[in-house]
Amino acid sequence: MRPIRSLGPALVLMLAAATGSLAAPGASAAQEPEPIPAGVAPPPGPYAPDVDVVHYEVEVGLGSGTGTFEGSARVRVAVVGHDALLPLDFTGLEVTSLTRDGVPTAYTHEAGVLRVPLAGSAPGDTVVVAVEYRGTPDDGLILRENVHGAPAAFVDNWPNRTRFWLPTVDHPADKATVRYTVHAPEAWDVIANGHLVREPEPTPADAIGPDTGPRRTWVWEVGVPISTYNMVIGAADMEIRTVGLAACGRAPASRRPDGCVEVTTWVFPEDVEKAEPSFRRAAQMVDFFTRTVGPYPFEKLANVQSATRFGGMENASAIFYSEQAIAAGRNIEGTVSHEIAHQWFGDAVTEASWHHLWLSEGFATYFGTLFFETADGVADFRARMESDRQGIIGSPDVDRPIVDPAETDLFALLNANNYPKGAWVLHMLRGLVGDAAFFEGIRDYYERYVHTAVLTADFQEVMEEASSRDLDWFFTQWIHRPGYPVFEVEERWLPDDAGGTAEVVVRQVQKAEWPRFRVPLEICWGEGAQRSCRDAVSGSDEDVLRFRFDARPTGPAVLDPDGWVLKDVRP
Ligand SMILES: [Zn+2]
Repeated sequence: MRPIRSLGPALVLMLAAATGSLAAPGASAAQEPEPIPAGVAPPPGPYAPDVDVVHYEVEVGLGSGTGTFEGSARVRVAVVGHDALLPLDFTGLEVTSLTRDGVPTAYTHEAGVLRVPLAGSAPGDTVVVAVEYRGTPDDGLILRENVHGAPAAFVDNWPNRTRFWLPTVDHPADKATVRYTVHAPEAWDVIANGHLVREPEPTPADAIGPDTGPRRTWVWEVGVPISTYNMVIGAADMEIRTVGLAACGRAPASRRPDGCVEVTTWVFPEDVEKAEPSFRRAAQMVDFFTRTVGPYPFEKLANVQSATRFGGMENASAIFYSEQAIAAGRNIEGTVSHEIAHQWFGDAVTEASWHHLWLSEGFATYFGTLFFETADGVADFRARMESDRQGIIGSPDVDRPIVDPAETDLFALLNANNYPKGAWVLHMLRGLVGDAAFFEGIRDYYERYVHTAVLTADFQEVMEEASSRDLDWFFTQWIHRPGYPVFEVEERWLPDDAGGTAEVVVRQVQKAEWPRFRVPLEICWGEGAQRSCRDAVSGSDEDVLRFRFDARPTGPAVLDPDGWVLKDVRP
């Protein structure tokens, strides 16, 4: 996702405040248990080791202008342990029924977890646990008026707020397919992940409520497995427009006869014209990432104005954008490119641990920017990378490594490490191994891990294969250690009979607690046709580098003039 504002302490405070409010008693009925706080990292180790959820069959009843809803979830589970325990994350709502394969069964509901013992189960068994529930959601499913005062219902899950409206194994590594049946007021359109199974029909009289008037029933299904934080529905009066078709012939999940992906916008009627500039190149972006990374992973791509607390949230094939940003007429094309890049990175290839979030956010930041390198030119690209660099330099976040298992507040992971520094790590890797090996590695990584969940070591291994290099030092210093190099440069010209020697002293003067970095880079003198460059490596507090020249080069020595290395240089 993209936070509303630039990353910084203000954002973290804002999110922390929003999280804290969840612990306060809401307008819950007595039967509704107190909600647990959102965004708390689970303890290390396997999350739900006895089970693998393979499918969620979800039914949601929505009304107009009411803060309550009714739901049911049939959770199909592949058992991987004997006498397995199914822990379903679920909080703040009243459970009215729970069955195992159609028969009421014992369970507990404490501290935000429905624990369902699957006595007698054995590895290889498939079990269906069905939960019926109702109430006022404390988070996750946002039932409130939209920015124009019209009633609306939108899901907003990241990181682990799915549990506030849908019982799931709420962890990014346990992906599953989903079918949604949504009963919503007649005037609303309903969007969700995947493809529309059939045109909406009048809702049967006995469907789950609340029944606030005539309704229509929408059925959406996503046929490839997605993470729980991506599982969304959105319902409101929206105007649907087609931006274009994309990824034709390279979208294996497409249900269209032409094999293309339909790229649409779902926007409140008041904001259709204002939204247009932000989305006009959305189909072009899908084509760019398909060419650069691999086949488009989902059935379609809807871009939806919504109640998300983020600037944009990349929900698989149904991206949700801030309703305020679009209503204000802001051009959010940078966010659009970022969220579309997430369809490949984060959604299709997912971080198996929240602490490896850079595999989602760093990748979306970098690939989102790469679109502009191709579409708008290298100067535009470099300006965006420089803006990211400014976001890193001086951020207190970089005193911690990118992968930081000590962080227990998942919202605090929305920081300068996982976004701009993660993007810079990819840019440096590209500079180190070259475009051919870098993009071959990226395509291999995507092809190998599409629709699964991975850790940083999996990415490292693929890139080592593609580049035929040991990259352990690179990933260790940039991913698992804090900081970045801060350089001071001094040079002397030592003339002799055959020309002379440029002696360049490169010092790394960053904080003592940060590592000394191994930095292959170019040192150049002069510009344009006069430019003369030498390869060098800085690797310690002070490196004295000597370069022979036939004649004294013009201008001072400049480290890495093309900007391939994340660094600060002191004058
Ligand atoms: Zn993102």
